[in-house]
Amino acid sequence: MAYDDQNIFAKILRGEAPAHTVYENDDCLAFLDVMPQSDGHTLVLPRAPAENLFDLDTADLASLIRCVQHVARGVREAFGPDGIRLMQFNGSAAGQTVSHLHFHIVPCYEGKPLGRHGGGMAKTEILEQHAEKLRSALKALG
Ligand code: AMP
Repeated sequence: MAYDDQNIFAKILRGEAPAHTVYENDDCLAFLDVMPQSDGHTLVLPRAPAENLFDLDTADLASLIRCVQHVARGVREAFGPDGIRLMQFNGSAAGQTVSHLHFHIVPCYEGKPLGRHGGGMAKTEILEQHAEKLRSALKALG
């Protein structure tokens, strides 16, 4: 199927929709999920117009996973979770709701169950506080 350039992540990538951006480079963008399953839930996506894992060329995929690792290191520093879950959905049957490839970085905290996927919207002020914390941690990592 053709890539839908009106999806919300395509709009964020073009600067047409807002996001709590925490990291970017030539190939990738990372921002906080507005319906976080836990504090620090972050999304990492390629700039290339790929709907799912199968649409991205391997060089861009290599760059994306390096970015995922870097941002996950920042999440670990900033939020000190007990574990980190990575998720990536391909197709609506698998749970994909936004048709631009992305990885979820979901911090897991002992004794604190994760929220529902696509559950409630977080408060903007809280998201911005978390984004700032993560941006600082990533800056410190270099
Ligand atoms: P998926 O189901 O893997 O396609 O996940 C899409 C994710 O994007 C969900 O966890 C949503 O909460 C999140 N999301 C949807 N719209 C936005 C947005 N404008 N900014 C940040 N995250 C979003």
